[in-house]
Amino acid sequence: MNIHEHQGKALLKTFGLPVSAGYPAFTPAEAEQAAGALPGPLYVVKSQIHAGGRGKGKFKELPAAAKGGVRLAKSVEEVRAFAEEMLGRTLVTAQTGPAGKQVNRLYIEDGSDIDKEFYLSMLVDRGTSRIAFVISTEGGMDIEKVAHDTPEKIVSFSIDPATGYMPHHGRAIARALGLTGDLAKQAEALGRNLYTAFVATDMALLEINPLIVTKQQRLNLLDAKISFDSNALFRQQSILALRDESQEDPKEIEASKHDLAYIALDGSIGCMVNGAGLAMATLDIIQLYGEAPANFLDVGGGASEEKVTAAFRIIAADPKVKGILVNIFGGIMKCDVIARGVVAAMKTVNLQVPLVVRLEGTNVEDGKTIIRDSGLNVIPADDLDDAAQKIVNAVRS
Ligand code: GDP
Ligand code: MG
Repeated sequence: MNIHEHQGKALLKTFGLPVSAGYPAFTPAEAEQAAGALPGPLYVVKSQIHAGGRGKGKFKELPAAAKGGVRLAKSVEEVRAFAEEMLGRTLVTAQTGPAGKQVNRLYIEDGSDIDKEFYLSMLVDRGTSRIAFVISTEGGMDIEKVAHDTPEKIVSFSIDPATGYMPHHGRAIARALGLTGDLAKQAEALGRNLYTAFVATDMALLEINPLIVTKQQRLNLLDAKISFDSNALFRQQSILALRDESQEDPKEIEASKHDLAYIALDGSIGCMVNGAGLAMATLDIIQLYGEAPANFLDVGGGASEEKVTAAFRIIAADPKVKGILVNIFGGIMKCDVIARGVVAAMKTVNLQVPLVVRLEGTNVEDGKTIIRDSGLNVIPADDLDDAAQKIVNAVRS
């Protein structure tokens, strides 16, 4: 689960981390009030969306020459004018995809005088099963480009969970950033507090880009992008309360209500599959035959008829979907349960696109009979290969 920058900064502040003063604003009047409560003379007006690259982003509804999603303002009046221009508009960045994300709130922040911009992120490194720090002196810009062009400028190390964060980790951060004296001390404390926050709140990813040194020689987290481990949210109720559903895919929200493992994708073939492995194989084989999947969906092992119905409705309601492939290997999941779910859902959704069903395994004959007797317009398939070719041909014709 992702949260907004202003929420992330408020959270990190409670762990003793240095952030600028600022206030969220949902209306131009609130933005003006927020700026009035800050010392000035420099203010930053920051679009709050669940995506990075806002500074270089463009508002869909504004002329291309208009300023981006993060703007420096020199007066309270300018803050208000920017807020009026930005709120309610759609911001398109390198990370949002062409559809962009609507800016429903801003963060009005006290402007910093920047001396240097660094990059710092933390993530759960699956390779080492540890939390890793990734640090670079090349902050403020596209870190993927730095990793590609000048990989030697990126320093990474991981923390042994048995010892936790040690003083030498702090020295490694300071060394990587070329910091000495008091700034090195600040870097050691910053790393320690970030590690504590990361573990305590079950973060999956934290990215500070840029981490700055101010002209006053203070470290400051100028940006904060945080994702939490969704499987840990049951014990992080205060984090869960920060969820902003307006930034999430409505299909994924609906799927999460039914406890379905669903990820929206960009293609045209909707997929209902059981088991993550078979689901991945199904996505691959659709690509192999030249089309792209509209989603990943694992209905799980013991799905009920209701759950199958909900899953089918979510797929069928997606306007991108030009055809649906149901691919079930009945093990614990029984083919007749899936068949009944599909038939029940078809009765309520008035499906306009072709549907290919491939069933195999437990109760397969019952399943096929239910589909056949339903009178629905279903294209049956014998195996995975056959099913993929049939749905690809169906969406093309
Ligand atoms: P992003 O574009 O979504 O990554 O948003 P950031 O929060 O990183 O802001 C983009 C850029 O705006 C930063 O890299 C800075 O160069 C600039 N910026 C943000 N806050 C300030 C500030 O307080 N003072 C100054 N001078 N520049 C800022
Ligand atoms: Mg940034």
